[in-house]
Amino acid sequence: MNTQILTTTDTDIARAAALLKGGGLVAFPTETVYGIGANALDGDAVQKIFAAKGRPSDNPLIVHIADAAQLAPLVREIPENAQKLMDAFWPGPLTIVMKKSSLIPEFVSAGLDTVGIRIPKSETALRLLRACAMPVAAPSANTSGKPSPTNAKRVSDDLSGRIDAIIDGGSCDVGVESTVIDCSTAVPHLLRPGGVTYEQLTEVLGTVVQSFGGHSEGQTPKSPGMKYKHYAPSAQVVVVTDDFEGYVLKNAPKYQKAGVITRSLGAFPVNCEVRLFGSSPKEYAANLFEHLRSLDDAGAEIIFAEDIDCKGLNLATRNRLHRAAGLNSVKE
Ligand code: AMP
Ligand code: MG
Repeated sequence: MNTQILTTTDTDIARAAALLKGGGLVAFPTETVYGIGANALDGDAVQKIFAAKGRPSDNPLIVHIADAAQLAPLVREIPENAQKLMDAFWPGPLTIVMKKSSLIPEFVSAGLDTVGIRIPKSETALRLLRACAMPVAAPSANTSGKPSPTNAKRVSDDLSGRIDAIIDGGSCDVGVESTVIDCSTAVPHLLRPGGVTYEQLTEVLGTVVQSFGGHSEGQTPKSPGMKYKHYAPSAQVVVVTDDFEGYVLKNAPKYQKAGVITRSLGAFPVNCEVRLFGSSPKEYAANLFEHLRSLDDAGAEIIFAEDIDCKGLNLATRNRLHRAAGLNSVKE
């Protein structure tokens, strides 16, 4: 399959919408990461997403809509908590899980009786969703298990030849995926930290149970996606929580080439490829996935990354970083 690279002109957005309406797969930018879209109401089209990504079939997809008016037919009810969150954070990086209606194909919900839905904020994503006038199922546009793509080149690296088109809309603003919150139960559960922070959610809802798991053996996360190896580059990743520079100085020379993701430039050994994490939570989130991928390209055998705290947006970025490291972190 020849993957077309499209721009964000009206003509190209119309082309992309036509491909989606015809049952094709189109990758497009959102404010979080790039997504790979298919008509959410067409089971055959949705099934192709799983094949293109190599995604396990028990990992459900997020459904994207342009307007809250599209929501009602897709769900059995709109819980009060969901309505409060929609009013506060849509359009934006928040996916709300609700009981699904029979319109949602089994492939989308991966056999669950719920569906995750969001209205993205990205203008390009919204223009595409409006042009095709249907809900679009869209997981992140990476090969399953790899870091999510935050620009069109990374989508192409993973999926060229496997999807119909990629809309190149530049780099994503947030850089980590949407927050996923389950509102199908009386007490809301945070299933994946993301672009809308835990603090923002509790401000609107009061109690929110953190339920993204994966941090201890035998804990089964409520969100199927959180049980898989995820966000991982080819190089091994080690998160260093203390004396970062000292740890790298001691350990990097054991390798031919090491990658370093640091918050401040230091005296790192000459075999280190150094990437600046950034100087704010917004920058850490925007840079993480691209740094992991570019350090793979640079031939790093191992990547040493400086740990960050759990406040605000950092909860999401830190979650991705630690999962990229297979939940292994070291303290020196
Ligand atoms: P991705 O689209 O690659 O960002 O992955 C979607 C994430 O949302 C995965 O972690 C899924 O497990 C999670 N998700 C989507 N729909 C549901 C749902 N109905 N219930 C629980 N988690 C969901
Ligand atoms: Mg993903």
